[in-house]
Amino acid sequence: MSNDTQINEGWSIGRYVAVILVALILGAAIGSMELFAKTSVFSGKLTAAHLVRFLGYGTALAAFWLLGQHSTIALQQRGGRWSFVQNLILPAVTLIVVSAAYSVALLILKPMLDTALLNIYNWIFIVAILACAAWVVMAVLGQSASLTEVFTSAAKRFGASGKNKACAACGADNEPTAKFCKQCGKGLD
Ligand SMILES: [Zn+2]
Repeated sequence: MSNDTQINEGWSIGRYVAVILVALILGAAIGSMELFAKTSVFSGKLTAAHLVRFLGYGTALAAFWLLGQHSTIALQQRGGRWSFVQNLILPAVTLIVVSAAYSVALLILKPMLDTALLNIYNWIFIVAILACAAWVVMAVLGQSASLTEVFTSAAKRFGASGKNKACAACGADNEPTAKFCKQCGKGLD
């Protein structure tokens, strides 16, 4: 991969982060203005402040999810030892987004929902959050082989017992835990 694409990549990730921050700050700042807080929409309990917060936080969540997707693609293109993380990002990001979306959508839905509807709304999110959690677990299980590989190779590299044993008789390189040479069968100390 050329330097140009890496710079572009970093720049567009920075752009997502900027969108997330600006949307959060604007949503919170404008949403707390008295003008918005005391002006109701459709002459109900819903105020302009609710609407602005919904738009701000909703935009931030959407940008966060797109950032997750973008990072996944970027990691896929790059490859390498940590590429297994790519399959864990999207499930984890989706779990966070769905969990946060519960409160964000409730900003504008709460005035319209009675107890029964609110209960249905809650259940929809409970099912969605559990599904995302299951997706995370499946992604971790699917990647556990690569995870184990990374950890054992790291342990081998840093551990004291991590040196491969060279056979005194034939010079073959043997696993640190090997008792006998895989080449000639002589005992290793
Ligand atoms: Zn040997």
